Amino acid sequence: MECWKEKQVVVLGLAKSGVAVAKLLHRFGADVIANDQKPREQAVGADELEALGIQVLTGGHPDELIHPGVDLVVKNPGIPYEAAPVAKAIALGIPVVTEVELAYHLSAAPLIGITGSNGKTTTTTLVGRMLAEAGMDVLVGGNIGTVLCELAETARANQWLVAELSSFQLLGTERFRPRIGAILNLYPAHLDYHHTLEAYFAAKQKMFANQTGEDFAVLPYDQPHVRALADQLAASVYWFSRTAPVQPGVYVRDGRIYYADEQGTETEVLAVEEIALRGEHNLENALAAMLISRLAGADFPSIGRVLASFTGLAHRLEFVAEINGVKYYNDSKATNPVATSRSIGAFHEPVVLIAGGLDRGIDFRDLVPVMRRHVKAIVAYGQTRGILLERAAEAGIDKRVSVDTVEEAVSAAAMLAQAGDVVLLSPACASWDMFPSYEVRGSMFKDGVHRLKTSLV
Ligand code: ADP
Repeated sequence: MECWKEKQVVVLGLAKSGVAVAKLLHRFGADVIANDQKPREQAVGADELEALGIQVLTGGHPDELIHPGVDLVVKNPGIPYEAAPVAKAIALGIPVVTEVELAYHLSAAPLIGITGSNGKTTTTTLVGRMLAEAGMDVLVGGNIGTVLCELAETARANQWLVAELSSFQLLGTERFRPRIGAILNLYPAHLDYHHTLEAYFAAKQKMFANQTGEDFAVLPYDQPHVRALADQLAASVYWFSRTAPVQPGVYVRDGRIYYADEQGTETEVLAVEEIALRGEHNLENALAAMLISRLAGADFPSIGRVLASFTGLAHRLEFVAEINGVKYYNDSKATNPVATSRSIGAFHEPVVLIAGGLDRGIDFRDLVPVMRRHVKAIVAYGQTRGILLERAAEAGIDKRVSVDTVEEAVSAAAMLAQAGDVVLLSPACASWDMFPSYEVRGSMFKDGVHRLKTSLV
């Protein structure tokens, strides 16, 4: 790691990762200023930083913050590149990075980076569990759990550092180089930040930018626009596929999962039906996790044991309760139409769908075919309820209800469902029009379902 003594660093955006970065660089001897546009009382961690002697500026970005004497800007991934201090730093030629870049430089452990539009947390969690099950020493963080550079600081050469990475985090990297990098899938998303699909895809591709022939790139064979990336990569490419016998990589044939190595030698790993997670999208996540873990050295029996026992994370197709023969599922993490359509498609039962949320100008046309096949009734709420009800009408769904709260949505869905149906909260939208987070939205849904259960006992 380069010498930080006397270096002037501006940390933009406090939050959890900004606070961790500011503390870390201060400990290394850098001259750190932490800045957040939020007023002081909302700037989490400001007191803690000041107590350490770190200068904290809140309530705006003063113009003099960024000047030619600044050596580095570490920005929160969510801050756009158009924000005044970021634009000024770039204009002055000052490097602007996210903490993922620092983590890369700090970590003595090799890195596994996992990104994609959907499935990151599930796949990253699976990889962490598979490596642990195989007796390996593993640290898991990044977009989930602990801030990556905090983990990186403690990481040892005989460990693996597994990182869930967003496009925002990857965009702020320069020399970041994972030993194993994976893009799970790419769907149009986050266009409010990246503006164009090309810019979004380019951010994700930074995963592979510094890899060499000693590294591995894991790609989805079933997505032709991602598959095409392989030709440009220096790393050894491994594939995962639900549909084609790929080599080298993992794939499904006749309901069974195989691994084919570089020589084409096949190993049967397990049957698809042994995987505890539900839905085709989770099969893709399982294949990717299996391949990544294999490349990191995990054995197949350990991988198989994790797949047979891991039933998923909260707010992702999470089973809540069965009431009068109706099963209730919380999929609040489905914040875009692709996620929701995959989740709806995971059920063979008729679905009463609860959806809606923040309006990002999406037209939801992609939901029509899957709604036509699986959805018997829709309960919509939030800013997008109007357009969702319109799409449901196009899909031939007669039972369409508009409500104001999640609690009302649970009652309405319960009235519409009959034994054998599934009630699925899978909003297809971010939560911020009505809730602070998707977790709060999902928890309120679960509370509503549990109340319904007790009221009927
Ligand atoms: P992320 O961390 O990328 O947001 P999660 O693993 O938390 O992904 O899953 C979020 C939601 O995305 C799930 O509830 C599910 O509806 C959907 N999803 C998960 N994996 C996939 C996938 N491979 N393809 C499409 N949708 C998926």
